[in-house]
Amino acid sequence: MARLEVREISKSFGGGQVVKGFTFEVETGEFLSLLGPSGCGKTTTLRIIAGLEHQDQGEVRIDGREISNIPVHKRNIGFIFQDYALFPHMTVEQNITFGLKMRGNHGDPQEKLKRILKLVDLEGYEARLPKQLSGGERQRIALCRALVLDPEILLMDEPLSNLDAKFRKRMRIDLKAIQKSIGITTLFVTHDQEEALSMSDRVILMNAGRAEQVGSPDEIYRNPGSRFVADFMGQVNCYEGTIASINGDQAVVTSHQFPNVISHFFEDTPCQKGDRILFMIRKESIIISYPEGTISPGTNVLLASVLANDYLGSETETICTFEEYPNSRIVVRTPSFSNRPLPSKGDKIRLVLNYEDFYLIGKID
Ligand code: ATP
Repeated sequence: MARLEVREISKSFGGGQVVKGFTFEVETGEFLSLLGPSGCGKTTTLRIIAGLEHQDQGEVRIDGREISNIPVHKRNIGFIFQDYALFPHMTVEQNITFGLKMRGNHGDPQEKLKRILKLVDLEGYEARLPKQLSGGERQRIALCRALVLDPEILLMDEPLSNLDAKFRKRMRIDLKAIQKSIGITTLFVTHDQEEALSMSDRVILMNAGRAEQVGSPDEIYRNPGSRFVADFMGQVNCYEGTIASINGDQAVVTSHQFPNVISHFFEDTPCQKGDRILFMIRKESIIISYPEGTISPGTNVLLASVLANDYLGSETETICTFEEYPNSRIVVRTPSFSNRPLPSKGDKIRLVLNYEDFYLIGKID
């Protein structure tokens, strides 16, 4: 078990800088995810830590030891690639013990092989070839091959992306359980928010080569610190507004994208009358009142019309617009099992917003 520190690393390919003074650490035994859109530099960061790429600037340390000049095979880091990279002509046993043999084999390889296959619940698979394994089994063998060498740090690059949705969910739970049971410090790369939120102790949301926000899954989801984070976490109801007045613990917010609404006063960020703000309303916190007359108009009860319904299985997203605000959009997420009738395209509805569910992303300078 070890602590990984990445200090101010930068990397350019050709003219473009893809990692830009990126700094973070993974604590001993922690599961940390690098989450971000395609091309933001996640894989490059992982490859620098593994030694497969060399940074232009910055340091990588394991337990305080600078490892930047140590070659890949001497770094004691396990790496699992997206395609698992198993040797196709070798059996499970040969794949797993290959690294041990290359290293001069400390201890009994058969004993290590047995122990590691038991950990991933694949005892008896020693003689199979990779083509005789399912995607999930191949994934677990790749994990065995990395773990059998007792690495100090485990790096995983989108290891679940080749599995179907149902199996991916199961593997998330299995992988996390195995990681916790052996307590290995783990850095996991993904562009899938759900995957990062469900597996990680902490998440770094990356944007263009550096950290945009670092926090627990709950913090990243609930308290996005910028529009980029809010957007990436699927929060589409973000608006610019102005604080028109403050009355006790409530603030009237006006916006050119939105009817006037009353919000709770954003206690964590002191605001004054006249401040321009970026705020968000969670789509799961809005209630649709339909037919239109069911709830009378009033504060935070807003007339809207339906543009479309997006059926997502257990939930449905209803995309609406405020008629007096051309191009306005607000999305409401409702459980699909709800007994309330769901409006259709063109229907007039009222949206009920709870004043406590407004969230201030930040002030606009
Ligand atoms: P994805 O989720 O799509 O894998 P990523 O966040 O992991 O993306 P990287 O693979 O780190 O992104 O790539 C970052 C940028 O660097 C991309 O624009 C990519 O094209 C570029 N890049 C990566 N490796 C090289 C290379 N060897 N030569 C030139 N450009 C590269």
